Amino acid sequence: MSRRSLLYAANWKMHHGPAAARDFLSRFLNLTSPVADRRLWFFPPSISIAAACEASAGRQDVTIGAQNVHWEPKGPFTGELSLPLVAEAGARAVLIGHSERRHLFGETDEQVGRKLAAALKARVTPLVCVGETLAEREGGRTEAVVTRQIGSLLERITPGEWEKVVLAYEPVWAIGTGKNATPDDAAQVHELIRFEISRRGVAHRVPILYGGSVNQGNVLALLAREEVDGVLVGGASLEPDSWAELVGLGA
Ligand code: PEP
Repeated sequence: MSRRSLLYAANWKMHHGPAAARDFLSRFLNLTSPVADRRLWFFPPSISIAAACEASAGRQDVTIGAQNVHWEPKGPFTGELSLPLVAEAGARAVLIGHSERRHLFGETDEQVGRKLAAALKARVTPLVCVGETLAEREGGRTEAVVTRQIGSLLERITPGEWEKVVLAYEPVWAIGTGKNATPDDAAQVHELIRFEISRRGVAHRVPILYGGSVNQGNVLALLAREEVDGVLVGGASLEPDSWAELVGLGA
């Protein structure tokens, strides 16, 4: 594997409270050493952000993030968390537009765009997810859907601000299903995304991660594609030993 910069992002979804997050990280960090050009991001449930930050203090290669935020900095939004609140807990990154937010909670392109703008304003690094559903793929609409999703992000921020953005292509049909896109499928959509952002004047090489049933068996083939700058992983990131093994495969 080449020494190019790779980002491994773990989305823990609704797993690992503060004690479990601490245990996970102390075990995981014992099993891994920092590697040049390898970034390790963790998205625990928000209640575990502070514990995860404490447990990973001193490891410059580790970043802790939030799985979701509201775009307003404060206000009457019961049950929501703002960017200043998650940043105070220690989050330096935030997942935006994950397909579970879009499809289970009805988040729209417009809301995703607002969250992106708010994250940049709060100086919390956004990891924005895009991707098509199975019906959209089977209907030949992958390109149109991803172009629309990227287009709505482009409306919200200036070309220069893309320097602080990370993207993830996550085909909805591949998330938590055990089906993953082939390296060719992923590379094709990553190329499309890169084309869309560069033709709108974004000069910076925005990292584009792939996500959707990534595991130890398929990660190297995906990362072997130069279009893939890292992976966003749910299920296979939940256990410290096997996650340490997975991130070690490409090192
Ligand atoms: C995810 O949650 O972003 C994800 C890709 O999940 P999984 O790896 O389980 O498909």
